This record gives sequence, structure tokens and C-alpha cells, in this order.
Amino acid sequence: MRYFVNRKGAVYRRIKGTISYIFDTFQHGRNQFLSPESLRSLQSKKLKKLIHHAYYNTVYYRNLFDRWKIKPSDVNDENDLINIPITIRKNIQSLPKEDILNKNEDIAGCRIVRTSGSTGEPFSIYRGKYDRERRLPYIRMYASNRCRFNDKMLIITTQQNFSKSGYFRTKSSFFRRKREKYLSLEKGIDYLLDEMRSYKCDILIGYVSVIREITQEIKRRNIKNIHPRVIFLTGEMLSKKDRGFISSVFNGEVFDYYSCSECGIIAWECREHNGYHVDADNVIVELVKDDKSVCVGEEGKVIITCLNSYTMPFIRYELGDVCILSDKKCPCGIGFPVLKLIAGRSNDYIVLPDGRRISPYLMMATMDKIKRVIKYRIVQETIDKIRIKIMVDSYFSQEEINAIRLDYEKIMGKDISIEIDLCKEIEKNSVYKKHVIISCLNRSNIKESNNDN
Ligand SMILES: [Zn+2]
Repeated sequence: MRYFVNRKGAVYRRIKGTISYIFDTFQHGRNQFLSPESLRSLQSKKLKKLIHHAYYNTVYYRNLFDRWKIKPSDVNDENDLINIPITIRKNIQSLPKEDILNKNEDIAGCRIVRTSGSTGEPFSIYRGKYDRERRLPYIRMYASNRCRFNDKMLIITTQQNFSKSGYFRTKSSFFRRKREKYLSLEKGIDYLLDEMRSYKCDILIGYVSVIREITQEIKRRNIKNIHPRVIFLTGEMLSKKDRGFISSVFNGEVFDYYSCSECGIIAWECREHNGYHVDADNVIVELVKDDKSVCVGEEGKVIITCLNSYTMPFIRYELGDVCILSDKKCPCGIGFPVLKLIAGRSNDYIVLPDGRRISPYLMMATMDKIKRVIKYRIVQETIDKIRIKIMVDSYFSQEEINAIRLDYEKIMGKDISIEIDLCKEIEKNSVYKKHVIISCLNRSNIKESNNDN
């Protein structure tokens, strides 16, 4: 009898979960068409809730607010954010996780993602049960851009970004349809092409440099049967040339989107390709130069406040990218503000003597695993010499240097000489563009395996 009662309870919870998920998905879809006033009011409601939560549940924000004599009730809307100091990665990178996470969160149950973003400063990001639904903004972007519920989706990313749940999969079994597949870019181009040939996806998602390499290889090998209808690209600047090339090889439409591990999706292109719509109900984006908000058309550093991150709150957090705010209204009807250009995310390939090219994301994923590394930069000085500059904490050991060398030897082979320098500081290469992987090679003089683009 008890079995049936429990079973009934589980079924009831699943149905309730499914209905609430469908409701949230539709609500999210409607948010993009809200009037500016309704959008502002939704944003300020979410912001007040987040500020209150961060102050009472995280040590870091409690101390920060107290130090600057800010009370949660002082922050009512976007304009009040300017009084809160900007947090940079360095501020929270060295703090114990208990200080930056929600004190009620079960840390053991959190999903941890190590990322160096665009700064080369590896950092663990925790996601847990207190985070509001992170997939909904993605679903909204897909639904607005030619994707259908029964489309087959292929996501090419690093192993640690594999989602256990997925795009349309919730706790409810109703949505558990295996319509998405993750491929690890660590496994190499031949594996990726074989899988793509057999899976025949409708939607392809990946980093710009990785998808560009795949496209070049498809063209070079004259592979005919890979034709995703829609291609979503992220992670790096997408040039007009690459967009045209990828689109023509796949015969599909290319959409670029801007996201980060801290808060998920930030801004995305609609079918007008007129700029990037900021997901204003998910994140508040400020563009700042010399501590002041920039005017329309001016470049500014991206500062984000993630309205749905409750496990590890990010309030006025600097990402290290640069954007320009546009004053144009997009004809698509979506009311979210538009960003004009997204700069600052660009990394070079490592090119090996045999012509193979190593994705910058594979190089970064290898370094992101090493917990004692505070910051790094990888420079290819000559065709057979790589210099890795690392800043480390006091617990870093010689064994870890050997482990780093071994990991990179596995990727690049033993013909490449790998120099590892322990540095006290890694200089910035320019004010905004913080490349993590730099190639000093003159690419016209070297043999590359695919230079037909
Ligand atoms: Zn639009």
C-alpha cells in the first residue's frame, strides 16, 4: 500500500514539475515581447530578490555591502547598481568556496565547472539547486531562431561542459527524449566528423574556431551529407568571412551568441542578424569605462549581474570582454536591448610542425583542470616551441609542472619543446583584449593542414 502511495506522490510531483516547466518556458518566451516599462519592472523585482538573497546568504557580498555601507533596501533597480563596487575574478578567486556560495547550498551536490573564460584565470563555478532554470533562455533563443522541438541537436564542446540533463530534458520523463548529443572536442577531428556523419543533426552548436576547423575539413575531404539547418556559434569573435564560409558549406543559417559560464546566455542574434539581444530578464549588462557607464556607440567593459544565479551570485561582476551598446530598435519585435559588437574574445590556434592545428579550447581545458594555477598564458614562439607562463599559489608543486608538461605532450606530441615559466605577474597584452593563447608564427610561412578558407 505504502508503495502505491509513494508511487502516486512521485507521479504527482512529476506532473507538477512538467506543468510548471511548460509554464515557465512560455512565460520566458513572452518576456522578450514585454514593453520597456514591464521589462524594467520585472528586472527590478528580480534584482531586489537577488540582492536580498546575496546579502543574507553569502559571506562575500555581506562583507562587501557592509564595507561600503550599502543596505539591500538601497538597491531597487538597475540605476542603483552603480553604488555597488565591481567584483573582478581576482577578488573571489582566492576566497574559500564557503564565502562565495549560498550558505544553504549543499556543496557536495553542486555541479562544478572550471573555466578561464577570456582572462586566463582558471576559476571554479558552482551550480546547484538554488539556481533558477538556466536552460530557459537557451530554449527561447532556439525557438526564436528556426529550431523545432523534434530537431536533433549536436553540441561540440569540452568534456566538462557535457550536460547531464540537456536541452529539453527536465526531471520529468515527459521531456526525456534523446534529441541532443554531446561530442568532446578533445577526441579530435576524425572522431567529430565520423559522429557528425552518422548523427545527421538539424542544429549544430560549438565554438567558432572549432566549427570553422570542422567546416574547412568537410570542404577539404568533400564530405556531402552533413547539413545542419541552423548553426549556433559562441566563445569567440565571428568574422563576416567565417560566417559566410560556415553557412555556405553547411547550407544553413548561422547565429552567434554571447554566453559565459558564470550566468549562461547573455545576448544572442535574432533572424535579422542586427546585433545581439541582451536577455534582460536573465542578466543585467552594464558597459563601463573608467568607472562610468558609456554612452550609446561607445566601447565599454562588460559588467554583469546574473538575475537567476542563487548558488553562486554574481553582482556587478566584470567579465573581461568589451561591447558597444546600440540605440537601434530591431525590426524583429523583440524588446530586449541590443548590443552592437562583442570584442575581446579571441584566441589563436597552436599549429604543429606536421600542419595539425590544436584548438585554443583544448589548450585551455587542459590548464583549467589544474587547481593551483591562478593565471596563465600560452605562447607559441616558434613552430616547435611553446612557452607556458603560469602564476600559481603557494601549494603548487613540481609534480604539477610535470603533469602539465605530460598533458600537453599528449596533445601536441614530443616534437614540440614546452617551456614552463613560473611568473609572479602576467602582463596584459592590451587594455581590453586579453588573449590567453597567442601564436607568434607568421602563418603564411607555415604549412597548415587546412588553409583553403
Ligand atoms: Zn531582433
